[in-house]
Amino acid sequence: MQIAERTVASFHYTLTDDSGQVIDSSSGHAPLTYLHGAGNIVPGLEKAMIGRSAGDAFNVVVAPEEGYGEPNQMLVQVVPRAAFQGVEELAVGMEFQAHTPQGPMSVAIAKIEGDEITVDGNHPLAGRTLHFAIEVTDVREASLEEVMHGHVHGEGGHHH
Ligand code: ZN
Repeated sequence: MQIAERTVASFHYTLTDDSGQVIDSSSGHAPLTYLHGAGNIVPGLEKAMIGRSAGDAFNVVVAPEEGYGEPNQMLVQVVPRAAFQGVEELAVGMEFQAHTPQGPMSVAIAKIEGDEITVDGNHPLAGRTLHFAIEVTDVREASLEEVMHGHVHGEGGHHH
């Protein structure tokens, strides 16, 4: 069976950056399972999955615009240290849930200069070219319920 709309595919992946450094990998874990055509994975990778079947292995390079997008300077802000009351020690890379008019947003501390803390709400991989090595392990038909919900149920998916 080939990956297409309304199929559920499982795959192993290794994600590396331009210099070949591993950013993330499913190696040693269960494969990632997703509902095809529902935007569960980045667009550039989803496109490259079309027509693949179990056992297929391939590499795909995804540009930022088809990955996590370009970084948005609007999402970078300097806030006073006092905004982090109750946090004992601040460090670069620490992640927080910020409450914004658009709803909760995940931000990370990008820079600390005295009492000025720079936070960045961009996805950590925004602006990065993504190099994926993919191995498809399974393709099955999606259930109607999965298509309606827009995500996978059961193994590797939502349990509800
Ligand atoms: Zn569901």
